[in-house]
Amino acid sequence: MNNSIEKKVYKKIREYDKIVIARHIGPDPDAIASTIALRDSIRLTFPDKKVVAIGLGVSKFKSYGILDKIDVEEYMGALLIVLDVPNISRVDGIENLNYKEILKIDHHPAEDIKGSVDWTDEESCSTCQMIAELLLKTPLKMDTKIAGNLYLGIVSDSDRFLLPYTTNKTFLVVHELIKKSKIDFTSLYNYLYDRNLDEVRFQGYIAENMKVTENGLGYLIIPSDIIKEYRVDLATPANLINSFNYIREVIVWTFITEDTKNGVYKVSIRSHGPIVNQVASKYNGGGHKYASGARIASKSEVDSFIADLDKLCEEYKRASISNL
Ligand code: AMP
Repeated sequence: MNNSIEKKVYKKIREYDKIVIARHIGPDPDAIASTIALRDSIRLTFPDKKVVAIGLGVSKFKSYGILDKIDVEEYMGALLIVLDVPNISRVDGIENLNYKEILKIDHHPAEDIKGSVDWTDEESCSTCQMIAELLLKTPLKMDTKIAGNLYLGIVSDSDRFLLPYTTNKTFLVVHELIKKSKIDFTSLYNYLYDRNLDEVRFQGYIAENMKVTENGLGYLIIPSDIIKEYRVDLATPANLINSFNYIREVIVWTFITEDTKNGVYKVSIRSHGPIVNQVASKYNGGGHKYASGARIASKSEVDSFIADLDKLCEEYKRASISNL
């Protein structure tokens, strides 16, 4: 362990007796698994430290471990470790927390969170890949449960090693993780891919109803009534969006889900080429170059969002033709 970023992270963790780990609102398996794996590793390595992983629980992710409820008074002056989120407004559960400093570990493009130790690696396929590197390179301990959680976060965020953020380092880290922990990784897939028939039928609805423009934009506005009719939830379209990869006629695709309770449209975007996070930022969103999300307030803005994405596809297609 030389003077690497992993060592700096380890030293910062060692320095504090009280640690709070948080991640983004609307968590996905990478966000949940990375926070729980890091918490459990710190507890295993330093049994005397008080360490918690906070944020709203999601029942379908219960198998990763249980999140903690905290008394903010007790954690005054703690180290706040922020995982898998670059903007402070999207960190779940820290509103009343009086922390001393932030340690940030994330694979999204940097935004307003600046950690006093700040490890941002846009080349990493997932935050779980970074936590796995940390555990493999420092004295932080790992058991089978921790390794299994990290493996599932990596598989989920890289979409089974399909997405372009998957690199030779991803495979190296996974190789080391499996070698060291001896996890039976194929037996874990049920946790990620088990789903009910309602969700499968809803996927059929999307396939049937998605519109595709001449420029290669696939889009679908999903009314709240449809979510009810298919007995799925508002997070389901985002969970299904990667299943619409590799459609020849589609270069960018987006699902826009009406959330009547909060008066917004929840948006997920994926791309094969055009960089979509700049369009997402224009509509109260952000994320990765090829995988972004947004929250849009009105139907008229939804229409201009679709027009912006379609224009992006048109420009991309034109540039691709002139480069031939
Ligand atoms: P999703 O489509 O929900 O899986 O999100 C794709 C990516 O975009 C993830 O990395 C999210 O963290 C990010 N993202 C989603 N919604 C937002 C938002 N409203 N603001 C900033 N980033 C977002």
